[in-house]
Amino acid sequence: MEETIFDNILKGDIPADVVYEDENILAFKDINPQAPIHVLVIPKKKVTSFNDLKDLSPEEVGVFLKGVSQVAVSLGLADDGYRIVMNCGSNGQQTVEYIHAHILGERQMKWPPG
Ligand code: 5GP
Repeated sequence: MEETIFDNILKGDIPADVVYEDENILAFKDINPQAPIHVLVIPKKKVTSFNDLKDLSPEEVGVFLKGVSQVAVSLGLADDGYRIVMNCGSNGQQTVEYIHAHILGERQMKWPPG
């Protein structure tokens, strides 16, 4: 797996505005926010994309997903709602080859997403 910007953020080599961290996940503000709240959540055990969840145990997938939920709630988004996005591959417009969930909140989302 090639090193990505998120590997460097995780190592602390590149600064990021971290909103939550524990032994399993890191959550930090997106550098180019698409909503008033735009946070990225990564599992510390790296896989490249949603295609590769098979390389994590059910427990690890669950811990990641529960972590995304916990961060969204801790950001105060639970009542008004929010959007979780996981882009995958070129059609999904994934630009960083390290699996991540976007948490987008504090604005009205649209559907279809485009
Ligand atoms: P993707 O397009 O792969 O789903 O999402 C990658 C996200 O990472 C983009 O929203 C982009 O703005 C964000 N991003 C890219 N480089 C950096 C960086 O150096 N720091 C932070 N905090 N976010 C980044």
